[in-house]
Amino acid sequence: MVKLNIKRFGEYEFEDGVTLKDIISALEGEGKKIKNVVGGKLNDQIIDLHTPIRTGGDLTFLTKKDPESLEILRHSFAHIMAQALKELYGDKNVHLGIGPTTENGFYYDVEIEGKRLTEEDLPVIEEKMREIIERNCEIERKELPRDEALKLFEEKREIYKIDIIKHQIPEGEPISVYQQCDFIDLCRGPHLLSTGEAGVFKLVSLAGAYWRGKEGNPMLQRIYGVAFWNEKDLKKYMNMLEEAKKRDHRKLGRELELFIIDEDVGGGLALWLPKGAVIRNEIETAWKEEHIKRGYQLVYTPHVGKEQLWQTSGHVDFYRENMFPEMMIEEEGYFVKPMNCPFHVEIYKSRQRSYKELPIKLAELGTVYRYERSGVLHGLMRVRGFTQDDAHIICREDQVEKEIQDVLHLVLDTLRTYGFNEFQIFLSTRPEKSVGDDRMWEVATESLRKAIESVGLDYQIDEGGGAFYGPKIDVKIKDAIGRMWQCSTIQFDFNLPERFDMYYIGEDNKRHRPYMIHRAIFGSIERFIGVLIEHYAGLLPLWLSPVQAKIIPVADTHIPYAKEVEKKLKEAGLRVEVDERSERMNRKIRDAELQKIPYMLIVGDKEQQTGSVSVRTKKKGNVGLFTVDQFIQNAKKLIEERSTEL
Ligand SMILES: [Zn+2]
Ligand SMILES: [Zn+2]
Repeated sequence: MVKLNIKRFGEYEFEDGVTLKDIISALEGEGKKIKNVVGGKLNDQIIDLHTPIRTGGDLTFLTKKDPESLEILRHSFAHIMAQALKELYGDKNVHLGIGPTTENGFYYDVEIEGKRLTEEDLPVIEEKMREIIERNCEIERKELPRDEALKLFEEKREIYKIDIIKHQIPEGEPISVYQQCDFIDLCRGPHLLSTGEAGVFKLVSLAGAYWRGKEGNPMLQRIYGVAFWNEKDLKKYMNMLEEAKKRDHRKLGRELELFIIDEDVGGGLALWLPKGAVIRNEIETAWKEEHIKRGYQLVYTPHVGKEQLWQTSGHVDFYRENMFPEMMIEEEGYFVKPMNCPFHVEIYKSRQRSYKELPIKLAELGTVYRYERSGVLHGLMRVRGFTQDDAHIICREDQVEKEIQDVLHLVLDTLRTYGFNEFQIFLSTRPEKSVGDDRMWEVATESLRKAIESVGLDYQIDEGGGAFYGPKIDVKIKDAIGRMWQCSTIQFDFNLPERFDMYYIGEDNKRHRPYMIHRAIFGSIERFIGVLIEHYAGLLPLWLSPVQAKIIPVADTHIPYAKEVEKKLKEAGLRVEVDERSERMNRKIRDAELQKIPYMLIVGDKEQQTGSVSVRTKKKGNVGLFTVDQFIQNAKKLIEERSTEL
């Protein structure tokens, strides 16, 4: 028997292997009204109407209104696409890899003998998928004994499915398959009851993917699709994609001359152009100011370190595949740093520390280098060299709670300064295999939980999802078009203090192990600027803008006055330019808007006579006539406040 606590209906007991379908009919038999259920959530798992339930727990019915129900829809879409491929290119020619769901849809990795898919094939596949939905194939779940499953997929020449059965499904575990019309797939589900229930979809792109993500394995083709229950949601998503394309930081980065990635320098290694460097410098200056104010000490560390250091830290044994290869100097091995931590540990250890000195908070904008396959590099978002806004807090147990609170406040204050006000917070707790004693895990995890609760934000717990060396908080931010970006991390570490034998002398004159916390607010400055560019579609807050105002003379005769204004503004510390071209005024305004310059200052006869400027912004159009001094005062106030307003 399985005991289920069904939301809204209470405690029930059912036969082992009962399905949601059975449960619903049982409840309906009692006269209960249950409508539009497409699946359920059993504890943390999304299940469909046909999966046998073998463990008890909390059960919630899902309707199309629950975002989690999309998981079921999207999984079925992966199968519908696979079926379409088989019907189009021949059952035995199409070898299916894996077909999971994604944040907004699904993909399937496939290999098609004698066929390399191109973008032009996508509409053809879509058409076939619509036909299969129209056909309304019933979707059935079956369980097969291992040898029967192997035989089935051998007949179908599904080499990758066989690989999965042989290497990923333990002997004795039931093997489930889902069938719709003639199509059958090795699958755990969840799925709809029939293809006719599928909502709306679109195939969006193609990519290459190694089988099992391992180089050297065959390269499959990955077909990405998006899927929703209704047209409205799909449209909203497609508009978002369209908008994302317009804001693409790689495109804007080139157009606004912020940064380049030069193949002669190397993939994933950004070069900051003068205008991009202005943005970065403003961010770094603000970051340093804020950290000093909050008791951090700035340090600088080298880009390379001896092999022995990375041995002690564990990087050589556990992180080597992410590192640039070793280099030899005077017969000693050196590595380019993938992280800053070991250096900060050495700074801590540069002399004996007393309990009175703690907490010690070492901060550095440290550029690190990690090996990423060239195929995954993406503008500033995924690079090989990036700058962590890194800090390590080393403290006593009685200081942990306050330190974590302070860090979380710093994180949220900083992100809000940049105009991010919606967050997703995740707390990851102790995994099965871990180092550190129970007490430390308890103290650390509780301090993280309390800190989140004290700022009054919702959070999700990733039970057992922490690193083996400590629990952590991750903060994601929501951008202007609704996308979530992983940013900040606050991570305890019970491993490095042991490995490096870090200690402080306590009040009792004995050695004690300190707590160590790694934390970063932006994560990577490069990536954060990429996110900022896309969030603001290039039109950054005044204090970050490389050019804060463009002075636009109405006619050539106004150029001398324009230059006078320019001089005054520059003396006040503003970044300004005069558009001296003999273009029409409207053209100059449009160009300044395209260059994403916050203020346009029009100067003609009237302005010249009154010692003023006519202020324009892209959003508001003409804002009015201001004396030059007034404008300076207003602008400087916004800049000092690091305001996101104009
Ligand atoms: Zn599946
Ligand atoms: Zn660290």
